[in-house]
Amino acid sequence: MKVVVVGGGAIGMLQARSFAGEGYDVVIVDKSALGREASWAGGGIISPLYPWRYSEPVTALASRSQALYPDLVAALHQESGIDPEYSGHGLLMLQVEGKDQAIRWAAKNGPWLEEIKAAQLYALEPALGQGHESSLWMPSVGSVRNPRLLNALRALMHEHPAIEVIENDGLARFDERGVTLESGKRVDADSVVFCSGAWTSSLLPNQRIKIEPVKGQMIVFDAPQGFVNRVVLSDGRYVIPRRDGKVVVGSTLEYCGFDKTTNDEARQSLYGSALALYPELKRYPVIHQWAGLRPGSPNGIPSIGPISGYENVYVNAGHFRNGLVLAPASVELLSDLVAKRASKIDPKPYIPSP
Ligand SMILES: Cc1cc2nc3c(=O)[nH]c(=O)nc-3n(C[C@H](O)[C@H](O)[C@H](O)COP(=O)(O)OP(=O)(O)OC[C@H]3O[C@@H](n4cnc5c(N)ncnc54)[C@H](O)[C@@H]3O)c2cc1C
Repeated sequence: MKVVVVGGGAIGMLQARSFAGEGYDVVIVDKSALGREASWAGGGIISPLYPWRYSEPVTALASRSQALYPDLVAALHQESGIDPEYSGHGLLMLQVEGKDQAIRWAAKNGPWLEEIKAAQLYALEPALGQGHESSLWMPSVGSVRNPRLLNALRALMHEHPAIEVIENDGLARFDERGVTLESGKRVDADSVVFCSGAWTSSLLPNQRIKIEPVKGQMIVFDAPQGFVNRVVLSDGRYVIPRRDGKVVVGSTLEYCGFDKTTNDEARQSLYGSALALYPELKRYPVIHQWAGLRPGSPNGIPSIGPISGYENVYVNAGHFRNGLVLAPASVELLSDLVAKRASKIDPKPYIPSP
């Protein structure tokens, strides 16, 4: 069995690794270098923001993925020699409306979620600005340094004996027997799998799959180790600590097509959000600003499964704000569907173009 995977973000590379694990021959193709789009730009929080506000299908994938993550990153570290720097230091959520709903959701779905008072909050995050009386606290939530995760995956793609990598050559056409690339190169395969993120709808124009690019801008502070220790979310904005102390701040949500430019307005807005949470961040420089294109889908529910009207053509895309957390379970589900075996998660909610 030979599979061609179109798109090498987190979803595509994990899908390729999973297929290789099934014993398939895999070709992964990307219009640019592997792992340089949304999956690189993201924050790496291994949880939806305000997870109780999402529908069951998102929760099902997130819960399964969260269970898979620690072993997955350990395996990737071992296989590639690159540590994706997974940290399970928890998520604090400030100024949340609907706390009761959050607590009921957690009781039903499993993760530990509680309301903590100021003393515990400031013990967890001493540099947080004064005046917070309480917080919601999810101690089991982790984060990953996604550029390192992608470097690990990319190294693995290039080293794996069953995986062929074609970079900087985008898809021009596809059919049930393979793909033709922009260079004219033909790749024959038994199955074609689209993991092309925000570009997926444009590559599948006759399908009713609705995925549109949604820009997110981020900044990063060069702060010292231990200044921020956990992911902190307030008013839709978040700070994420990296192991070396850097503090990533996100993000904007902009519907402006395939435009990845950054601007001062977003930089100032993110800077303001960061200082509102951690006033002393003003002592540290912002060393980088960037943007990525989320694969925006209705209600954030990805399309995972066979594409109608074709034999052996599949999609795994549309993970919107949660592609890093949802990736392991989404990939596991599609691998089960391609292998035509029972899946751990009910595939119905994710069927493309129902
Ligand atoms: C600012 C920001 C913050 C985020 N924070 C988080 C977070 O904290 N946690 C979380 O879980 N998620 C987060 N996300 C969302 C997450 O990054 C995405 O949902 C996820 O990366 C999507 O992965 P993907 O592999 O589908 O897409 P991508 O990583 O975009 O990969 C798609 C690939 O397809 C390729 N491609 C496109 N067209 C073609 C073609 N014609 N031929 C061949 N290849 C093609 C592209 O080059 C690209 O490499 C964030 C996103 C952004 C932008």
